[in-house]
Amino acid sequence: AAASSGGLVAYADSGSDAAVEKPQLPPRKKVVVLGTGWGGTTFLRNLDSRLYDVQVISPRNYFAFTPLLPSVTSGTVEPRSIVEPIRRILEKKGGEIKFWEAECFKIDPKNKKIHCRSNIGTNLDGNGEFLVDYDYLVVAVGARTNTFNTPGVVENCHFLKEVEDAQKIRRSVMDCFERASLPFLDEEERKKNLHFVVVGGGPTGVEFAASLHDFVTEDLSKLYPSIQHLVKISLIEAADHILTMFDKRITNFAEDKFGRNGIDVKTGFKVVKVAKDAITMQNPATGDISVPYGMAVWSTGIGTRPFIVEFMKQIGQANRRVLATDEWLRVRECDGVYAIGDCATINQRKVMEDISEIFRVADKDKSGTLTVKEIQDVLDDIYVRYPQVQLYLKSKQMNSIADLVRSAKGDTEKESVELNIEEFKKALSLVDSQVKFLPATAQVASQQGQYLASCFNKMKDAEENPEGPIRIRGEGRHRFRPFRYRHLGQFAPLGGEQTAAQLPGDWISIGHSTQWLWYSVYATKQISWRTRMLVVSDWTRRFIFGRDSSC
Ligand code: FAD
Ligand code: MG
Ligand code: MG
Ligand code: MG
Ligand code: MG
Repeated sequence: AAASSGGLVAYADSGSDAAVEKPQLPPRKKVVVLGTGWGGTTFLRNLDSRLYDVQVISPRNYFAFTPLLPSVTSGTVEPRSIVEPIRRILEKKGGEIKFWEAECFKIDPKNKKIHCRSNIGTNLDGNGEFLVDYDYLVVAVGARTNTFNTPGVVENCHFLKEVEDAQKIRRSVMDCFERASLPFLDEEERKKNLHFVVVGGGPTGVEFAASLHDFVTEDLSKLYPSIQHLVKISLIEAADHILTMFDKRITNFAEDKFGRNGIDVKTGFKVVKVAKDAITMQNPATGDISVPYGMAVWSTGIGTRPFIVEFMKQIGQANRRVLATDEWLRVRECDGVYAIGDCATINQRKVMEDISEIFRVADKDKSGTLTVKEIQDVLDDIYVRYPQVQLYLKSKQMNSIADLVRSAKGDTEKESVELNIEEFKKALSLVDSQVKFLPATAQVASQQGQYLASCFNKMKDAEENPEGPIRIRGEGRHRFRPFRYRHLGQFAPLGGEQTAAQLPGDWISIGHSTQWLWYSVYATKQISWRTRMLVVSDWTRRFIFGRDSSC
C-alpha cells in the first residue's frame, strides 16, 4: 500500500520496512539553544522538535528550579528535589534533540557559528573546543552575579545563583556553628563566627535571610543551646528600603517583621570592601564601619556575562548594559539570533520615533488631519505595537483615545475634533514614559521561551502566508504579534510560615494563608511529577521532623 503523509511518500508493495525508501525531506533548519535554565528549557519543552534539527549547549546538564534555592540553603528542600536532568526532559520530546555539556565562549554572527568549550573532555588539539553551525540561535544563558567590582567579594562571599552555591552556603552555616562551639574560642570569636551577613535587600537576599532565621530559631537553637544567643543576622541594603520592587505595604511589613525577629536591617549602607574576617560598609552619616563576620552572602543584582559583552561589541551594542532585542525577541542587525530571559532586555519601540508614519497610515482620507474615528480604526494595531499607549491612558484614568484627543485640543466637551500632525504629536508626547522594562525573573524567561517556541512552530506557515496582523510599522509588516508579558504576581517569603504576595491589579496579601498559596503554586509549577513528589515530601518531612542539620 502506498502511504503519504505531509509530503512523505513511501513506495512499498509489502508492509516490510526494507521496502520503504527513505523519503527525501528538505534538510531541516538548525536551531541551537544556549542554556538549560528557565528560558532555554521552556523553549525546548514547547518547541515542535520535528520541524528542526535541534542542538542544546549548556555547561549544566540539568534544569534548576531557582525559586526554591533559598530553601536548599537551610535544608528545607534537598538539592536533588529541585533539579531535573535535561536529557530526561529531551527524552520526552522523542529523543531527537542533541545535547552537549559545554559552554559557548564566542558567537560569530557573520558566519553563523558559535565557539564552544567542554570542561570535561579534550579533542585532538588538547583542548575541549569545537564549532557549531546554526540557522537560528536562541541565547538563553542567564546572567552572572554583579559585584560592582567591590574588592574581596569574589574571594570571601557566597553567591546564591546555582544549586552548588546553595549547598555551599548550607555547609558553611553548619561550619560556622561547629566552629563557634569549639572549646578554645573566646566569646568574641564565637560571636564573629555566628554573625551572618546578607548583602542586598532584594527578593533573594530577603528570602535567604528569612530562611536562615527560621533554620536558626526552629532547628539549630535546640542543637546548639549554649551559643544560640550569640547568633546575629544582618541584612545590608544600599537603598532606603528593602524589597523596593514591591508595594510599600509589603516593604513595611517585611521591615517590621525582620525588626521583631531581631534581624538587623541596615538600609542606606553600601558595602565597599569584604576582607577575610571583616566587612566594611559606608553611610554618609557614619562614614566607614567594619564589622567582623562568620559568613557573607552577596546578592545585589545581576550583570552581563563576559562573552555576551564581547558579542554586544561586535554587533554595535557596546554602549548598552544588557543585550537588546526587539519585541519579537530578535537581536537587531543579527540574522537568526534570538535572546530571552535574564541575558537580554526588550527595546520597546517608541511611539515618538514612528509618529509621522502612524499619522500617515491613520489619515486614510489624506486630509492632513485625524478624526477620532480615524484614530480608532488603527487603535488595535497601535495597542499591540506600542503597549505603552494603553498603560498611559490607564495612568491618566482616560477611558479612550477620544479623551486624549479632546484633552489635547483643550476642549473636553466638543464631540468631533480633529488633530493635525503637531497636535497629534503633542497628544502622544508623553506616552513613551510608560515603557516598562521587564524584571529578571523566571516568570519572564519562561513566558519568553514559550512565546518564541510558538513562533518557531508557526514559522514555516508564516513564510507561506506573510501577511500578519500588525500593520502599523516598526520595521515593515510582521507575521507575529510581538511578545507581551503577563504578570501573574510575585511572592516574597518572609519566614515563620508567612509570605507576602503582590498579585495582578496590585492585590496585596500577606500572612500564613499566603504561605499556603505559595506552597501550592510552587508545587504546581514543578517541571515534572518526580520533582513535585520530592519537593512535597521534603516539605512534609520538615513539618514532622524539622530540618536536617548534618552536612
Ligand atoms: P538561567 O535560568 O540562569 O539559565 C541560564 C542557563 O545558561 C544555565 O543553564 C547556565 O548553565 C547556562 N549558561 C551559562 N553560561 C553559558 C554559556 N556560556 N554557554 C551556554 N550556556 C550557558 N524568579 C521568579 O520569577 N520567581 C522567583 O521566586 C525567583 N526566585 C529566585 C531565587 C534565586 C535564589 C535566584 C538566583 C533567582 C530567582 N528567580 C526567581 C530568578 C530566575 O531564576 C531567573 O530570572 C531565571 O533563571 C532566568 O532564566 P534564564 O533562562 O534567563 O537564565
Ligand atoms: Mg535558560
Ligand atoms: Mg534556571
Ligand atoms: Mg530579560
Ligand atoms: Mg483625515
